[in-house]
This record gives sequence, C-alpha cells and structure tokens, in this order.
Amino acid sequence: MNPAADQPHPARPGNRAHQPRELRTVRQTTCCVVGAGPAGAMLALLLARQRIPVVLLEAHGDFDRDFRGDSLHPAIMQVLDELGLADRLLELPHRKLRQATLPASPPVTVDLSRLPGRFPYITLMPQAQFLDFLTTQAARYPSFELVMRANVRELVEQDSIVRGARYHAPDGWHEIRAALTVGADGRFSQTRRLSGLTPVITAATIDVLWLRLPRLPGDPEGATGGIGHGHMLLLVDRGETWQLGMVIPKGSWPQLRAAGLQALRDTIAELVPWLSGRVGQLADWSQVSLLSVTADRLPRWHRPGLLLLGDAAHVMSPVAGNGINYAIADAVAAANLLARPLAAGTLTERDLAAVQRRRQWPTRITQKVTGVLQDRLLARALRTATGPPKPVRWLLRIPLLRDLAPRLAAFGVRPEHVRPAADLGNLRP
Ligand SMILES: Cc1cc2nc3c(=O)[nH]c(=O)nc-3n(C[C@H](O)[C@H](O)[C@H](O)COP(=O)(O)OP(=O)(O)OC[C@H]3O[C@@H](n4cnc5c(N)ncnc54)[C@H](O)[C@@H]3O)c2cc1C
Repeated sequence: MNPAADQPHPARPGNRAHQPRELRTVRQTTCCVVGAGPAGAMLALLLARQRIPVVLLEAHGDFDRDFRGDSLHPAIMQVLDELGLADRLLELPHRKLRQATLPASPPVTVDLSRLPGRFPYITLMPQAQFLDFLTTQAARYPSFELVMRANVRELVEQDSIVRGARYHAPDGWHEIRAALTVGADGRFSQTRRLSGLTPVITAATIDVLWLRLPRLPGDPEGATGGIGHGHMLLLVDRGETWQLGMVIPKGSWPQLRAAGLQALRDTIAELVPWLSGRVGQLADWSQVSLLSVTADRLPRWHRPGLLLLGDAAHVMSPVAGNGINYAIADAVAAANLLARPLAAGTLTERDLAAVQRRRQWPTRITQKVTGVLQDRLLARALRTATGPPKPVRWLLRIPLLRDLAPRLAAFGVRPEHVRPAADLGNLRP
C-alpha cells in the first residue's frame, strides 16, 4: 500500500495557524517535498530510490516554463551516471556545448573539451524535459508520488515543529503530514516565507533581459555573443532558437523600455550584426523578460521538521549559469545524509543542520566568486566594452589557470556523489 494514499479526513482545527480550512484530504508520508524544480525532483527521486515514502508537490500543471536555465553541467551528468540514468537522458533531444566564446575585446574562448570525466561538455536541454525525465524515473518507485497543481500555501505546525504542508488544488485544500518537509520551491519560496527564515540579500549591479530569436543554418554553434554601448549580449544555442541574455546595468530597464522596441532591436543588431535580419521578429515586449539579478542566502536552512534547499536556500548569480548544478548537489547531499534517519524514524534537527554544514560553504564561496566576476569584471566590461582587464587575460593564458575556471564551473566547489541505495528492489516495471 502506498503510505501516502488518500485518506479523506475531517479538518483538525488544533493544527492550523490560520483560518480553519475545509480539508478534502489529510495524508501521511515520510518526506513532503515542496516544488518539483531540479532540487525537489532530484531529492524525491533519490529518496524514493531508497524506498522512503515521498510526496512531491508542484504548483504548476506542467514543467513547461520558459524563464528557466537549461544547462546541465558535467557534475549533474556525473550524478545521473551514478544513478545509471545518464545514457537514458542523452537519448532525449539535447545539444552539447563544448566551447563558449565570451563576448570581450578580444573574445575569450573557453574550451570545455579538456574537462575530465565522461561528460566534457554542458548538456543543453529544456528544463521541462529534464524535470519530466527525473519525475518519470522517480515514478518507477512505488514510494514516490507527484501531485501537480498543488500550490503550497501553509505549513502544518505543532509546538513550533513543522509537521507537513497544506496545498490548494483545483478541487480544494489538502494536507500532507510528514516527518520532514523540504522547501525546494525556488527563489520566491513560499515555504521560506511561511517558515519565518529570512535571507541575507546581496545587491547586484546588473540585470538580465531574457528573450529568444530564431537560429538559422550556418549560424555559429555553442555559445557566443557581443559587447558594447553599455550592454553585453550572450547567445546560447538552443537548436532552432538562440536564447539571448542581455546584460544591462541594474535599474536601466525602465529607460530601455522607454526608448522603445526598435532601440532594443538596433542594440541587438549592433552587438551581433549577423542577427540584424531577424531582430524584426521581436514584435512585442511580451517576448522580453527581465531577470532582476540578486544573490541571497539563508543564514539558517532549517527548523525542526523543515529544510530548505536549492534556490530557496541560496539564489546563485546567473553569471556562471550554475544554479541548477548547486540545486542538484544540495539534493544529493540531503539524500545522502537524511535517508538513513528518515528510514529509521530517528530524524532530528541535527541531521538537517548537517546538510546545511555540508552545502553552505560551497555555495557561499561560489556566490562570492561570481559576485566579484559580476560586479567587477562584468560591470567594468559594460562600462568600457573591453572585456577582462589585462592581468586577468594574462592569467587566462597559463594552461593550469585557463582550465581551472571551466572546471570550477563544470563541477562546482564541492561536487556531490550519490551513495548506493541500500536496496534497489521493488521497482515498478
Ligand atoms: C532566466 C533564468 C535563467 C537561468 N539560467 C540558468 C542556466 O543557464 N543554468 C543554470 O544552472 N541555472 C540557471 N538559472 C537558475 C536555475 O534555473 C535555478 O537556480 C534552478 O532552477 C533552481 O532550482 P530549484 O529546484 O532550487 O528551484 P526552481 O527551479 O525555481 O523550482 C522551484 C519549483 O517549485 C515550484 N513552486 C514554487 N512555489 C510553489 C508552491 N507554493 N507550491 C508548490 N510548488 C511551488 C515552482 O513551480 C518550481 O517548479 C536561471 C534562472 C533564470 C531565472
């Protein structure tokens, strides 16, 4: 029997912090994961693989969101390989990024082909497809359940201990009670807000505009871009389209909009002249999204019964494109450290603190390094259009240092490895 199976239950007002709810169901599981992004989907897969009952709640009806990162770094492929899933993932449509030319004058080329391991490239795959893959793999284990359109709006608390979450679904309110609730609900985490844990926010000096244009036969491959006039444009090859990320000085979006869509088209065409024939396809501001760049981190990732992971615990700067990498690494570390106490029913807050201790310093170091890159080098590049300063360019000529940056980006500061599952029996066919 699925331990999380529906058990319609009358409302119990004593467990409620807010207005009494008419609950359609109250169910019990071991781990309730809020948010089926990379962190939540991976954690749920890893726990289900250890036969731990897990319910994954996702607010949306599908995974299809455009405003997302699509890059799977070698560290993630390594994790999937340890799970025996890498080759299966690579059977799905994807692109391999083996080289990136950073817009600078002169351009800086980053060669990923010298990276160690089986996956010396960045796998580009729509995040929706990746999440669908992870949850499909998780669904092979009977102890996994995914609930879509489950918008978590309340935590269940008893004696200051988090005992689960309440979500709103199209048919009304539901409650999941759990030994552990994990908030993996992203940069605008509702779980974090409800928990009272408050992040330290670091101001950034840049914002990013996010848009797409068609990619045509004969275009370059991989990642490329252009710099000048106070802007930097990064292009990532998404097969039939280019994903454009236009770095702009923080707060300059209102002026840019006021200048009109034609001015944006002209800027794109100036930065990357071979796009000039297709900028006309940018017909409406709805095709352009603003990513307000911030970095934040929680000084404390846990409360009794609750753990926050991924962007909910630390939003990474988009500069190194490593948010997914760190979200997945958090999930792997959490599964490694928590599976045993969860299975034994002995979980305490000390176990949750151990996850934070393991993952906090790698994320903080990375946030610091990317913060310097973002605020010193990128902001300088926007002002002067010259790219990295001379000393940095000289350093990049030294082979060891030249290879260190892509290596750090590819594997993160502390790559995590999957511990073997105690027992992998009981797979659904
Ligand atoms: C424009 C943009 C470009 C990016 N590019 C890259 C890139 O190229 N490479 C990279 O590595 N990273 C990139 N990132 C960052 C990356 O997408 C995130 O770091 C990563 O997705 C974080 O994973 P997560 O699982 O912690 O959270 P998320 O991916 O944000 O997932 C959170 C999930 O929780 C769900 N949710 C939210 N609230 C609730 C609720 N109340 N109840 C239930 N479910 C809820 C959401 O619907 C979502 O599915 C980019 C981010 C943005 C915004």
